[in-house]
Amino acid sequence: MKQGECRIISPVFRNINRNRTDRISIAMNTQSIFLNLAVGGAFFAAILCPVRGEEGLEPEKKILSRHKTPPTYVRNEKDDSKWPGMIREGIDAARKYFGNYGPVYVYILGHEDKTLNSEEFHRELVETYCRHHCGDDREKLRYCKAGPGMELVKKAHSGRGDAYLSMVGDTDPPIAELVFINPHKFRDPYLYTRGIHEYTHVYQRSFPFTPTWMVEGGAEFFAAYLGEKNGWEKLSDAMKEFMKNVHRVKDPELDIEDMEDVDKVSPAVKKYYRHLAYDAGAWAFAFMIHKSKGRSIADTREVLYPLVAKHGWERALVEFAQVKDKRAFYKAFRAFLKTPLEAQLKMLETLED
Ligand SMILES: [Zn+2]
Repeated sequence: MKQGECRIISPVFRNINRNRTDRISIAMNTQSIFLNLAVGGAFFAAILCPVRGEEGLEPEKKILSRHKTPPTYVRNEKDDSKWPGMIREGIDAARKYFGNYGPVYVYILGHEDKTLNSEEFHRELVETYCRHHCGDDREKLRYCKAGPGMELVKKAHSGRGDAYLSMVGDTDPPIAELVFINPHKFRDPYLYTRGIHEYTHVYQRSFPFTPTWMVEGGAEFFAAYLGEKNGWEKLSDAMKEFMKNVHRVKDPELDIEDMEDVDKVSPAVKKYYRHLAYDAGAWAFAFMIHKSKGRSIADTREVLYPLVAKHGWERALVEFAQVKDKRAFYKAFRAFLKTPLEAQLKMLETLED
């Protein structure tokens, strides 16, 4: 890697998404301009070439915004399988709910029919991907195509499923990329809700930093909630599954408070990334709505996130959940986790649309 060509910056935060078959995939939702991708179980550094204004990156300003153009899909046009349509339906359900934010590019690659993994399509995809990252600079493009671009193709050929959001943060405006690799590996109807999950991150990235548990927990909550609205799954069933995972955390000292920024936690905490950020996070997100004035899920969109934009996440949480401070919220949530499942599910029923 020619490090002189393209800066390497650690991701501000990384998110692990997973499907319900317990396969963990690595996802990105980062404020940095540097991405890690998991390929073949190993991380590699994916460069984002400093096209313009790379110095003095100001993450707060590098956020997405309301956007007129719908997501652009980069996919194999010869692929007439159901998978791209399912991804699009999930994303569109979330767009309908949150509004259109962006710009967003959706890459869909990899297929159970090997002939659809054509060289021609992969060339086009890599070309588009690298142009987003490196602009017209020929040398950087060459590097990108041989490096991160090629890794995407390898991942498609590997047959493993993966989906994640990454941000191209050094362009103006920044670009969100939703990458779906080998979508046939996702269990039906999970591909729909995965689209919702990833697009929820696009919405979240249109606001300043929020804690990891709110990012992943919120995305899981909306995947289940909008999944139910669209007839793909049941919110209470999904939440029951999440609660099972919450109880799999062996260290009783750990909770969502330890998952405010996954990139700053110790390996012992990161071990429970999924359980704390996604599973407990989804319940904390619901609990936060339950504590709010209107108990309305839509108020997260109408009240919570505008508060985040105005005052930052801590004050937004305090005002929205009507608590003295964030510690009071964490304490109340810890007590809630100790209540019986039946009572927990009853809490869910108090939530309004
Ligand atoms: Zn996620």
